[in-house]
Formats: sequence, structure tokens, C-alpha cells
Amino acid sequence: MATINNNYLKLKAGYLFPEIARRVNTFAEAHPEAKIIKLGIGDVTEPLPAACRQAIIKAVEEMGDRSTFKGYGPEQGYAWLREKIATQDFQARGCDIDASEIFISDGSKCDSGNILDIFGHDNTIAVTDPVYPVYVDTNVMAGNTGDVNEKGEYEGLVYLPITAENNFTAELPTQKVDLIYLCFPNNPTGATATKEYLKTWVDYAKANDAIILFDAAYEAFITDASLPHSIYEIEGARECAMEFRSFSKKAGFTGTRCALTVIPKTLKGKAADGSDVELWKLWNRRHCTKFNGVSYIVQRGAEAVYSDEGKAQVKALIEFYLENAKIICSQLQAAGLTIYGGVNAPYVWVQTPTGLSSWDFFDKLLQNCNVVGTPGSGFGAAGEGYFRISAFNSRENVNEAMKRITEKFTV
Ligand SMILES: *Cc1c(COP(=O)(O)O)cnc(C)c1O
Repeated sequence: MATINNNYLKLKAGYLFPEIARRVNTFAEAHPEAKIIKLGIGDVTEPLPAACRQAIIKAVEEMGDRSTFKGYGPEQGYAWLREKIATQDFQARGCDIDASEIFISDGSKCDSGNILDIFGHDNTIAVTDPVYPVYVDTNVMAGNTGDVNEKGEYEGLVYLPITAENNFTAELPTQKVDLIYLCFPNNPTGATATKEYLKTWVDYAKANDAIILFDAAYEAFITDASLPHSIYEIEGARECAMEFRSFSKKAGFTGTRCALTVIPKTLKGKAADGSDVELWKLWNRRHCTKFNGVSYIVQRGAEAVYSDEGKAQVKALIEFYLENAKIICSQLQAAGLTIYGGVNAPYVWVQTPTGLSSWDFFDKLLQNCNVVGTPGSGFGAAGEGYFRISAFNSRENVNEAMKRITEKFTV
């Protein structure tokens, strides 16, 4: 019989969202009349911007005509899309990023996991706690960890707690690490990073020959002009960081699929013979071998995000979700809860009232208000005592959920 990758057996059974579904289903069966509102999973709800749809329709028509039909495109993405990203997302903010350093892909979830293909298995890896679970699980699958303990922590990973005490920004590791995952604006806490804070990480990475894997999936939600959108706004980041970006949350592409990874040509790793190797070359090789590019149709849809109409529509979309977040923040505060995030991010991170665990709070919210959120403990041990509420929903559902919480929630 064929053997398997035993690392998969180390993974905690897909625990968080199945357990949420189980509790919601049990409640719904017992209370069939309850109108449950889900503010749990981080998926967008509003339609794809019109500019993107029109560009996609036009591209479909081109595919129907022999003279404009497209077969395989460049694995790294079409130049017209990469150029627009380089100039508008990076160079316009003073980031020295060239179009050739941008790789178009079908998702940041995929890229942030697949990137481990080009790294060795002897790196010391740091993640925040709580964290986007993909970073941890893909390291487990790749064999970069030992077993999980009863707290849900994997042996071999360095966990950097993020709590209200440190403003949900991790302190620098006290030991030397080689890879560091940072996500700002943060999922799940909604925290943001200042330039000064990111500089401490860039300085650490350069001093320790470490690499920062910077996830900027939520950069479009930044409204505070002083906050950096990209790690490359920090001097020195070209030598120590790669960045993941996605059209998913920015332009409603979660079901359409388009993202990008930036790997500066100046970013290097160490080979077994002690020589320095450009990571860009390895990722390019990996991308061309294991990936055949995002569809022409979808890349045209993504390109439309950079048109004048596209920019205005994306801005309106982001403002819509941020207004939801604002309503959630003010209503939860009115209900007497302590909250974080929700300003430059679509997530509100709620501190559970004294004496209530993350799952206790989940059950109370479900039973008293028929509202579903995500227990913070599902994102890591240090998420215990917190709860994530997502602003991705219709205004009607947000208003109704908040009305129920202010009227009915009692500790
Ligand atoms: C949603 C999300 C992404 C985007 O993933 P896609 O695969 O591009 O849809 C990346 N990182 C984080 C932290 C996210 O929450």
C-alpha cells in the first residue's frame, strides 16, 4: 500500500468551523423559528464591482473569437496587470517594486502555503498567537513542526502572543528565528501596524538574516493616512520581506480568485553549500512548474480595479464594510462590551466579559441573540477570552444583529 505524508496526521482535526456549524445546527433544530445571523466566517457578501464584471464579460467575448482568443498566458501573470499593480499599489506609495517582482496567482491562501516549497525544513518559524490558521497548518503539512500539545501549540513553532496588553502587536522574539509571518491589518484581531512598528521587524529581520512573510490581504481597509499599506514602505524591506496581496477582500474576489505575491529580486536565502540564492528565482521556477497562470478572464476583471470607475467602486465597497464595522463597534460598546479593531479592518475583536470563555460567549450570543461569531480561542491559545465579529454582511443583517445584542445580551 502507498504510504502517506504522516505530517497530516499531526493536524488538529478541522476543529473551529465544523464545531461552529455543529453548535449552530443543534440550536437551529431546537429553535426552527430563530432567524440566525452569521457574522462568523470571513467571506465577502456584496456583489463584484460593475467595472470588474464588465471587463470579465468583455474578456469572455474575446475568448469566443478566434482572432482574440487566448490560450495559456504567462505563468507569472499578464504584463498589463503586473504593471498596473507595480505602479499604482507600490510605486505610487514610494515602494521600489518592479512589475517583474510580482507574481499573479489564484489566491493568497494558496501562495502563503505554497511558499514553503522554496524554503528548507530547518528554519525556526515564528507566528503570532492568535493567527490566521493557514500559516500554521501549512507548516505542519510540510513537516516543519512536531506534535501539537493540549493547548493547541505545535512543537517547534515560536508563538508570539498578541493581546490587549501589547496592543495586538507582537514583541520581537527573544530567540533567533528565520521566518516570521506578519498580517496587517490583522485577521483575526483587526489590529494595524505603524511604520515605526514594522521598522522594528525589518531591523530584526536584517540583523538576524530572517525573512518576513507579510500578509497584506486587508490593506485596502486602511483609511488612516499615517499607516503603511505595504512592508516595502519600510526602508530595507526589499532585503528581508515578501508580501502577499489579494483581490478577495479588496474587490470581492473571494469566489472569482485573483491575488499576487511580491518577491523582490534582492531577497535571498541560504543554500546547503553556504551560497546565497535569490528567492525570486526559486519561486519563479516553482510557479512555472506547478502553476499555469490565472485565467485571462479573471485577470481582466482584476485589471479593472485600477480603472477610474473600478477605483471608485472598490472605494465604495470598502467604505460600506467599514461603516458596518463602525456600527458593530459602537453598538457593542453600547452593550457594555470592550472591543478592539474594526477601524482600519473589517474585523472587530471583542473581549469576552469576565468569567466567559470564547466558547461560553459564542453559546450565549447564539442562544440570547441568535447571532454567530467566531471564538478567539479557535485562532490560537492566546485568543482565549476574545471573539471575532466580521463586518462582511448586509447592512440589514448588521443592524438587526446589533439591535438584538444591545437589547438582549446579558452576561
Ligand atoms: C482572506 C485572507 C486572505 C486571502 O485569501 P485568498 O486565497 O486570496 O482568497 C489571505 N490572508 C488572510 C489573513 C485572509 O484573511
